[in-house]
Amino acid sequence: MSTFALKVLLAAAGFTLSGMALAAATLVQDVRVFDGKAMHERRSVLFDDEKILDADFRGAAPKDARVISGAGRTLLPGLIDAHTHAFTGLDLPLLFGVTTQVDMFTAVPLMQAVKRSMAAGQNAGRADLFSAGTLATAPNGHGTQFGVPIPTLSSPDQASAFVDERIAEGSDFIKIVLEAGGQGTSKMNSLDVATARALIEAAHRRGKLAVVHVSNEADARAALEAGADGLVHLFLGAAPDAQAAASLAQLAKRKGAFVIPTFTVLESAAGVRDGEELLADPGLAPLVDRAGIATLKARYGAQAKPQALAMPKAVTAALRKAGVPILAGTDAGNAGTLYGISMHRELVALVAAGLSPTEALAAATSAPATAFKLGQRGCIAKGCKADLLLVDGNPAQDIKATRRIVEVWKDGQSANPLRDARRQKVAQESGAASRQALPPDGRISDFSAARLGSAFGSGWMASTDQFAGGKSTVKLEVLPPLPDGQVPLAVQASVAPGLPFAWSSVAFMPGAQPMQAVDLSAAKTLRFKVRGDGKTYQAMLMGAGNQRPSMVPFVAGKEWQEVSVPLKDFAGIDPAAVAMLAFSAGPQPGDYRFELVDVRLLEQE
Ligand SMILES: [Zn+2]
Repeated sequence: MSTFALKVLLAAAGFTLSGMALAAATLVQDVRVFDGKAMHERRSVLFDDEKILDADFRGAAPKDARVISGAGRTLLPGLIDAHTHAFTGLDLPLLFGVTTQVDMFTAVPLMQAVKRSMAAGQNAGRADLFSAGTLATAPNGHGTQFGVPIPTLSSPDQASAFVDERIAEGSDFIKIVLEAGGQGTSKMNSLDVATARALIEAAHRRGKLAVVHVSNEADARAALEAGADGLVHLFLGAAPDAQAAASLAQLAKRKGAFVIPTFTVLESAAGVRDGEELLADPGLAPLVDRAGIATLKARYGAQAKPQALAMPKAVTAALRKAGVPILAGTDAGNAGTLYGISMHRELVALVAAGLSPTEALAAATSAPATAFKLGQRGCIAKGCKADLLLVDGNPAQDIKATRRIVEVWKDGQSANPLRDARRQKVAQESGAASRQALPPDGRISDFSAARLGSAFGSGWMASTDQFAGGKSTVKLEVLPPLPDGQVPLAVQASVAPGLPFAWSSVAFMPGAQPMQAVDLSAAKTLRFKVRGDGKTYQAMLMGAGNQRPSMVPFVAGKEWQEVSVPLKDFAGIDPAAVAMLAFSAGPQPGDYRFELVDVRLLEQE
């Protein structure tokens, strides 16, 4: 029984409700309603702390109901992000109107914890989670590079057992990676198509969906031919010819598959910065903290290649024309994306790719609910879950109206107290954060036998890939002073194979705590003296919220040499939130030795 029905019953029986912990029903009156598929100009919607009681309520407001005016506003189902990696930031989606996340790979214990709180009816304070749990990939394949040890497979005969193990862990569906050739400079293994097909068939035998990560057209076709229920990415490239895009779309249509383009992460990979406009939005920006800003500003692509977005745009337009379900998903958890807020970028990108605003809204509500069989979500109708988003204006006319959030409800409970608290926290943080002053001579290295000191921050220390599961080691040794009195530091590094981004380094921590972000925007140039074995090394800068550091190579020759690196050469790093500066051997495995002295951060370019 709903609490509302219970209240009516109790009231009728003459009971008083005082002291009972029953949430009041809420009535949003005379509001434009997007029901998940279509817009209705004027309705009143009544819901309790569980579900929608009446999506077209007429008559006087029930006694005790909280009444909210809907004039000039639009009520939408809570948004569903169809592609995230919910490793962290579980509190974020709700702040921006995202009430359900479909996760494509996260830590199994985290997935299980959220599912327990959903089952207990105690998840009103954050978005619900549907998850693949561990993805299916090859040994050393995409998904293994994050330092979390995961089970892998390499042949079709292992598929059934793999799927059974995922289902036993609580996976809602199976996510499969086809990633031939790897990404960037790192070569990665991939499952073969036969194994992907065996996984899809095993999932289907167990009544589960199987979706596939692809990053090129050939893999997309292979996944669809193998029976994938959905593709969880499109891929970058120059504009395809119209026939190729149409034939891929028709294949998806024939196979009954859905597609999640993930423009947000593709924009990051293409190095374009259009998505940063989120941070200029007065409705959204006050909810984004410093670490969030850095994550949103990070980019996988070092150089802007906007033309590479022609492919996913053209394919999305072709999918729409063919009637293939398109789902809004951000790939949040990656550089250039952020949980919740990035959905408002994805909606704009979908409209730019040819969806009508109403179709884009469906892609973020009813389409993922149907595709992933999420039950009574993504809809405003009697019995639908009371996960709702109220905005000013009409997003069917201007898709950016989704950003003008008036209120968010999760399980019928207002998330506005959470939104207010976040706004306050962000305001406090930006008041407190100030630009780190640099020492007059810029010198940040203060090495002595007693300590590896620094002008500010928490000093210098060894940093290797061991915390990400690697096996690289490093030994630091303070050397006798040079004639000018400066004390050099010898760095003896052994970089072990295994990780695609192996490193072994000495690192300067600018914050009071190691890895605490500091505003280093006063610094324009990194200057240091180095000598060594003639090998190539990396100057590395790590930003708050970045998954991997940005690197600029230098050579350590036999004689002392001064090296200057403009800080702007560290692509994708926000100088206002720097967590670590390091001098690293690697990524090629081997033994290395270099000496470092007189490291400075200078205000001059
Ligand atoms: Zn992903």
